[in-house]
Amino acid sequence: MSATVLDGKKIGRMIEEQLHNQIINLQSRDIFPHLAVVIVGDDPASHVYVRNKEMACERCGIKSTRIDLDGEISEEEILAIIHKLNSDNSVHGILVQSPLPEGINESMITDAILPEKDVDGFHKMNLGRLVQGDSSGLLPCTPAGIMKILELSNIDLSGKNALVIGRSRIVGMPMSILLAQRGIDATVTIAHSRTKNLPDICREADLVVAAIGRPEFVKSDWIKPGATVIDVGINRIQDSSRKSGYRLAGDVDSGAFNVAGHITPVPGGVGPMTIAMLMTNTIKATESMFR
Ligand code: NAD
Repeated sequence: MSATVLDGKKIGRMIEEQLHNQIINLQSRDIFPHLAVVIVGDDPASHVYVRNKEMACERCGIKSTRIDLDGEISEEEILAIIHKLNSDNSVHGILVQSPLPEGINESMITDAILPEKDVDGFHKMNLGRLVQGDSSGLLPCTPAGIMKILELSNIDLSGKNALVIGRSRIVGMPMSILLAQRGIDATVTIAHSRTKNLPDICREADLVVAAIGRPEFVKSDWIKPGATVIDVGINRIQDSSRKSGYRLAGDVDSGAFNVAGHITPVPGGVGPMTIAMLMTNTIKATESMFR
Protein backbone atom coordinates (compact mmCIF):
# COMPACT_ATOMS: atom_id res chain seq x y z
CA MET A 1 0.00 0.00 0.00
CA SER A 2 1.28 3.45 -0.84
CA ALA A 3 -0.04 6.45 1.09
CA THR A 4 -1.69 9.47 -0.47
CA VAL A 5 0.73 12.34 -0.01
CA LEU A 6 -0.85 15.45 1.53
CA ASP A 7 0.80 18.19 -0.50
CA GLY A 8 1.17 21.09 1.93
CA LYS A 9 2.96 23.24 -0.59
CA LYS A 10 0.12 23.05 -3.12
CA ILE A 11 -2.63 23.48 -0.51
CA GLY A 12 -0.70 26.27 1.23
CA ARG A 13 -0.30 28.20 -2.02
CA MET A 14 -4.04 27.77 -2.73
CA ILE A 15 -4.83 29.27 0.70
CA GLU A 16 -2.47 32.17 0.00
CA GLU A 17 -4.18 32.82 -3.35
CA GLN A 18 -7.58 32.82 -1.66
CA LEU A 19 -6.42 35.78 0.46
CA HIS A 20 -6.01 37.87 -2.69
CA ASN A 21 -9.53 39.35 -2.71
CA GLN A 22 -9.37 40.32 0.95
CA ILE A 23 -6.01 42.02 0.37
CA ILE A 24 -7.30 43.94 -2.67
CA ASN A 25 -10.34 44.97 -0.69
CA LEU A 26 -8.15 46.32 2.15
CA GLN A 27 -5.84 48.11 -0.29
CA SER A 28 -8.84 49.81 -1.93
CA ARG A 29 -9.51 51.31 1.52
CA ASP A 30 -5.87 52.47 1.77
CA ILE A 31 -5.06 49.73 4.27
CA PHE A 32 -1.83 47.89 3.56
CA PRO A 33 -1.43 44.71 5.65
CA HIS A 34 1.94 44.80 7.36
CA LEU A 35 3.79 42.07 9.25
CA ALA A 36 6.80 42.82 11.47
CA VAL A 37 9.17 39.92 12.07
CA VAL A 38 11.70 40.14 14.88
CA ILE A 39 14.68 37.79 14.73
CA VAL A 40 17.30 37.60 17.47
CA GLY A 41 20.73 36.06 16.90
CA ASP A 42 22.13 34.08 14.01
CA ASP A 43 20.54 30.62 14.21
CA PRO A 44 20.77 29.46 10.56
CA ALA A 45 17.45 27.54 10.59
CA SER A 46 15.61 30.57 12.02
CA HIS A 47 17.04 32.74 9.26
CA VAL A 48 15.73 30.28 6.63
CA TYR A 49 12.24 30.30 8.26
CA VAL A 50 12.17 34.10 8.39
CA ARG A 51 13.24 34.35 4.75
CA ASN A 52 10.43 31.91 3.81
CA LYS A 53 7.94 34.09 5.67
CA GLU A 54 9.21 37.22 3.89
CA MET A 55 8.86 35.47 0.53
CA ALA A 56 5.28 34.46 1.37
CA CYS A 57 4.48 38.10 2.21
CA GLU A 58 5.92 39.12 -1.18
CA ARG A 59 3.74 36.51 -2.97
CA CYS A 60 0.60 37.66 -1.16
CA GLY A 61 1.15 41.43 -1.35
CA ILE A 62 1.67 41.85 2.40
CA LYS A 63 4.29 44.37 3.49
CA SER A 64 6.93 42.82 5.74
CA THR A 65 9.53 44.47 7.94
CA ARG A 66 12.33 42.40 9.35
CA ILE A 67 14.03 43.51 12.54
CA ASP A 68 17.38 41.76 13.03
CA LEU A 69 18.69 41.91 16.57
CA ASP A 70 22.04 40.93 17.99
CA GLY A 71 22.08 37.66 19.98
CA GLU A 72 23.49 39.55 22.98
CA ILE A 73 20.50 41.90 23.25
CA SER A 74 18.77 42.13 26.63
CA GLU A 75 15.16 41.20 27.41
CA GLU A 76 14.38 44.86 28.19
CA GLU A 77 15.64 45.98 24.78
CA ILE A 78 13.50 43.36 23.00
CA LEU A 79 10.49 44.44 25.07
CA ALA A 80 11.10 48.09 24.11
CA ILE A 81 11.02 47.10 20.41
CA ILE A 82 7.80 45.13 20.92
CA HIS A 83 6.16 48.10 22.66
CA LYS A 84 7.16 50.35 19.76
CA LEU A 85 5.65 47.91 17.24
CA ASN A 86 2.51 47.59 19.38
CA SER A 87 1.91 51.33 19.20
CA ASP A 88 2.75 51.62 15.49
CA ASN A 89 -0.63 51.78 13.74
CA SER A 90 0.91 50.83 10.39
CA VAL A 91 1.91 47.40 11.80
CA HIS A 92 -0.90 44.83 11.99
CA GLY A 93 0.98 41.65 12.86
CA ILE A 94 4.07 41.02 15.01
CA LEU A 95 6.01 37.82 15.42
CA VAL A 96 9.20 37.02 17.27
CA GLN A 97 11.00 34.09 15.67
CA SER A 98 11.54 31.17 18.02
CA PRO A 99 13.87 30.02 19.54
CA LEU A 100 15.22 33.04 21.40
CA PRO A 101 18.75 32.93 22.81
CA GLU A 102 19.20 31.28 26.19
CA GLY A 103 18.32 33.50 29.12
CA ILE A 104 15.50 35.31 27.31
CA ASN A 105 12.04 34.47 28.65
CA GLU A 106 10.19 33.56 25.46
CA SER A 107 6.68 33.47 26.88
CA MET A 108 7.18 36.86 28.55
CA ILE A 109 8.20 38.32 25.18
CA THR A 110 5.19 36.70 23.47
CA ASP A 111 2.84 38.07 26.09
CA ALA A 112 4.19 41.58 25.52
CA ILE A 113 2.77 41.54 21.97
CA LEU A 114 -0.73 43.01 21.76
CA PRO A 115 -3.08 39.99 21.50
CA GLU A 116 -4.73 41.48 18.40
CA LYS A 117 -1.31 41.69 16.67
CA ASP A 118 -0.17 38.24 17.86
CA VAL A 119 -0.19 36.51 14.46
CA ASP A 120 1.71 33.48 15.84
CA GLY A 121 -1.26 32.88 18.18
CA PHE A 122 0.97 32.23 21.22
CA HIS A 123 -0.27 35.02 23.52
CA LYS A 124 -1.98 33.77 26.72
CA MET A 125 -5.17 35.53 25.66
CA ASN A 126 -5.29 33.77 22.28
CA LEU A 127 -4.35 30.35 23.72
CA GLY A 128 -6.84 30.88 26.57
CA ARG A 129 -9.63 31.55 24.10
CA LEU A 130 -8.79 28.27 22.38
CA VAL A 131 -8.99 26.36 25.67
CA GLN A 132 -12.46 27.84 26.19
CA GLY A 133 -13.59 26.27 22.93
CA ASP A 134 -13.42 29.44 20.82
CA SER A 135 -11.28 28.81 17.75
CA SER A 136 -12.38 31.97 15.91
CA GLY A 137 -9.36 34.06 17.04
CA LEU A 138 -5.70 34.06 16.04
CA LEU A 139 -4.73 30.37 16.22
CA PRO A 140 -1.17 29.02 16.47
CA CYS A 141 -0.08 28.64 12.85
CA THR A 142 1.29 25.07 12.81
CA PRO A 143 -1.68 23.37 14.52
CA ALA A 144 -4.10 25.55 12.52
CA GLY A 145 -2.31 24.58 9.29
CA ILE A 146 -2.60 20.90 10.21
CA MET A 147 -6.34 21.26 10.89
CA LYS A 148 -6.71 22.97 7.51
CA ILE A 149 -4.85 20.27 5.56
CA LEU A 150 -6.95 17.58 7.29
CA GLU A 151 -10.16 19.47 6.52
CA LEU A 152 -9.31 20.13 2.87
CA SER A 153 -8.24 16.50 2.42
CA ASN A 154 -11.65 15.36 3.77
CA ILE A 155 -10.18 13.37 6.63
CA ASP A 156 -12.99 12.77 9.09
CA LEU A 157 -11.80 12.61 12.69
CA SER A 158 -15.08 12.24 14.54
CA GLY A 159 -14.72 9.47 17.15
CA LYS A 160 -11.28 8.55 15.80
CA ASN A 161 -8.19 7.97 17.94
CA ALA A 162 -5.71 10.81 17.49
CA LEU A 163 -2.22 10.64 18.99
CA VAL A 164 -0.20 13.84 19.35
CA ILE A 165 3.45 13.13 20.14
CA GLY A 166 4.92 16.22 21.82
CA ARG A 167 3.34 18.67 24.26
CA SER A 168 5.01 21.96 23.35
CA ARG A 169 3.28 25.30 23.79
CA ILE A 170 3.56 26.02 20.07
CA VAL A 171 2.63 22.68 18.49
CA GLY A 172 1.63 19.68 20.63
CA MET A 173 -0.64 21.30 23.24
CA PRO A 174 -2.71 23.56 20.96
CA MET A 175 -2.87 20.71 18.42
CA SER A 176 -4.44 18.42 21.02
CA ILE A 177 -7.04 21.03 21.94
CA LEU A 178 -8.00 21.66 18.30
CA LEU A 179 -8.40 17.93 17.61
CA ALA A 180 -10.61 17.45 20.69
CA GLN A 181 -12.81 20.50 20.03
CA ARG A 182 -16.52 20.12 19.43
CA GLY A 183 -17.20 19.54 15.74
CA ILE A 184 -13.86 17.76 15.18
CA ASP A 185 -14.49 15.26 17.98
CA ALA A 186 -11.34 13.14 17.92
CA THR A 187 -10.40 11.16 21.03
CA VAL A 188 -6.99 12.61 21.76
CA THR A 189 -3.95 11.11 23.48
CA ILE A 190 -0.94 13.32 24.21
CA ALA A 191 2.41 11.51 24.36
CA HIS A 192 5.68 13.02 25.58
CA SER A 193 9.18 12.15 26.73
CA ARG A 194 7.86 10.25 29.79
CA THR A 195 5.25 8.23 27.91
CA LYS A 196 5.56 4.46 28.25
CA ASN A 197 4.78 1.96 25.48
CA LEU A 198 4.62 4.64 22.78
CA PRO A 199 4.82 2.11 19.90
CA ASP A 200 1.73 0.28 21.23
CA ILE A 201 -0.21 3.52 21.76
CA CYS A 202 0.75 4.61 18.26
CA ARG A 203 -0.53 1.35 16.72
CA GLU A 204 -4.03 2.23 18.01
CA ALA A 205 -4.05 5.68 16.41
CA ASP A 206 -6.08 6.62 13.32
CA LEU A 207 -4.20 9.93 13.25
CA VAL A 208 -0.61 10.46 14.38
CA VAL A 209 0.80 13.97 14.70
CA ALA A 210 4.54 13.72 15.35
CA ALA A 211 6.05 16.92 16.82
CA ILE A 212 9.13 15.72 18.65
CA GLY A 213 12.18 17.11 16.88
CA ARG A 214 14.03 13.79 16.49
CA PRO A 215 14.78 12.49 13.02
CA GLU A 216 12.79 9.41 11.96
CA PHE A 217 11.84 8.68 15.57
CA VAL A 218 8.42 7.19 14.74
CA LYS A 219 8.96 3.83 13.07
CA SER A 220 6.84 2.48 10.24
CA ASP A 221 5.81 -0.60 12.24
CA TRP A 222 4.22 1.74 14.85
CA ILE A 223 1.76 2.99 12.23
CA LYS A 224 -1.67 1.41 11.94
CA PRO A 225 -2.27 0.48 8.28
CA GLY A 226 -4.32 3.22 6.62
CA ALA A 227 -3.75 5.78 9.40
CA THR A 228 -3.17 9.47 8.67
CA VAL A 229 0.34 10.63 9.58
CA ILE A 230 1.23 14.29 10.04
CA ASP A 231 4.97 14.79 10.32
CA VAL A 232 5.73 18.15 11.93
CA GLY A 233 9.42 17.54 12.58
CA ILE A 234 12.09 19.50 10.75
CA ASN A 235 15.48 18.00 11.50
CA ARG A 236 18.73 18.87 9.78
CA ILE A 237 20.85 15.82 9.01
CA GLN A 238 24.43 16.18 7.82
CA ASP A 239 24.73 15.13 4.19
CA SER A 240 28.02 15.88 2.47
CA SER A 241 26.57 14.94 -0.94
CA ARG A 242 24.40 18.09 -0.84
CA LYS A 243 25.64 21.57 -1.61
CA SER A 244 24.12 22.84 1.63
CA GLY A 245 25.87 20.06 3.59
CA TYR A 246 22.59 18.87 5.11
CA ARG A 247 19.21 17.39 4.27
CA LEU A 248 15.89 17.76 6.06
CA ALA A 249 14.26 14.80 7.76
CA GLY A 250 10.94 14.56 9.55
CA ASP A 251 10.13 12.83 12.83
CA VAL A 252 8.67 9.83 10.99
CA ASP A 253 10.58 7.05 9.29
CA SER A 254 10.07 7.13 5.52
CA GLY A 255 8.86 3.50 5.60
CA ALA A 256 5.57 4.95 6.90
CA PHE A 257 4.76 5.97 3.31
CA ASN A 258 4.13 2.25 2.65
CA VAL A 259 1.77 1.79 5.61
CA ALA A 260 -0.18 5.02 6.14
CA GLY A 261 -3.33 5.99 4.25
CA HIS A 262 -2.36 9.68 4.10
CA ILE A 263 0.94 11.29 5.03
CA THR A 264 2.62 14.70 4.91
CA PRO A 265 6.13 14.84 3.43
CA VAL A 266 9.12 16.73 4.89
CA PRO A 267 9.79 19.18 3.38
CA GLY A 268 6.59 20.25 1.62
CA GLY A 269 3.99 19.21 4.19
CA VAL A 270 3.34 21.06 7.43
CA GLY A 271 5.94 23.83 6.85
CA PRO A 272 4.16 25.58 3.94
CA MET A 273 0.80 25.18 5.72
CA THR A 274 2.26 26.98 8.75
CA ILE A 275 3.31 29.86 6.53
CA ALA A 276 -0.08 30.01 4.78
CA MET A 277 -1.76 30.27 8.19
CA LEU A 278 0.62 33.06 9.18
CA MET A 279 -0.50 34.98 6.08
CA THR A 280 -4.15 34.21 6.97
CA ASN A 281 -3.63 35.45 10.55
CA THR A 282 -1.97 38.65 9.30
CA ILE A 283 -4.98 39.44 7.12
CA LYS A 284 -7.37 38.51 9.93
CA ALA A 285 -5.47 40.80 12.34
CA THR A 286 -5.53 43.66 9.79
CA GLU A 287 -9.25 43.28 9.10
CA SER A 288 -10.15 43.11 12.78
CA MET A 289 -8.42 46.46 13.37
CA PHE A 290 -10.62 48.23 10.82
CA ARG A 291 -13.95 46.59 11.55
P1 NAD B 1 9.84 21.00 21.53
O1 NAD B 1 11.25 20.60 21.69
O2 NAD B 1 9.34 22.21 22.20
O3 NAD B 1 8.91 19.78 21.99
C1 NAD B 1 9.22 18.46 21.68
C2 NAD B 1 8.24 17.55 22.38
O4 NAD B 1 8.61 16.21 22.08
C3 NAD B 1 8.24 17.69 23.90
O5 NAD B 1 6.94 17.99 24.36
C4 NAD B 1 8.72 16.35 24.41
O6 NAD B 1 8.00 15.90 25.57
C5 NAD B 1 8.45 15.43 23.24
N1 NAD B 1 9.42 14.35 23.25
C6 NAD B 1 10.76 14.43 23.34
N2 NAD B 1 11.30 13.20 23.35
C7 NAD B 1 10.28 12.34 23.27
C8 NAD B 1 10.19 10.92 23.28
N3 NAD B 1 11.28 10.15 23.38
N4 NAD B 1 8.96 10.35 23.17
C9 NAD B 1 7.86 11.12 23.10
N5 NAD B 1 7.88 12.46 23.08
C10 NAD B 1 9.07 13.06 23.19
O7 NAD B 1 9.60 21.04 19.97
P2 NAD B 1 8.47 21.78 19.07
O8 NAD B 1 8.73 23.24 19.07
O9 NAD B 1 7.12 21.30 19.44
O10 NAD B 1 8.88 21.19 17.64
C11 NAD B 1 8.87 19.82 17.35
C12 NAD B 1 9.41 19.61 15.97
O11 NAD B 1 8.56 20.25 15.04
C13 NAD B 1 10.81 20.19 15.71
O12 NAD B 1 11.49 19.36 14.79
C14 NAD B 1 10.52 21.52 15.06
O13 NAD B 1 11.57 21.95 14.22
C15 NAD B 1 9.30 21.17 14.25
N6 NAD B 1 8.42 22.30 13.94
C16 NAD B 1 7.99 22.40 12.66
C17 NAD B 1 7.12 23.39 12.30
C18 NAD B 1 6.64 23.47 10.90
O14 NAD B 1 6.11 24.48 10.50
N7 NAD B 1 6.76 22.39 10.13
C19 NAD B 1 6.69 24.34 13.24
C20 NAD B 1 7.13 24.20 14.56
C21 NAD B 1 8.00 23.17 14.91
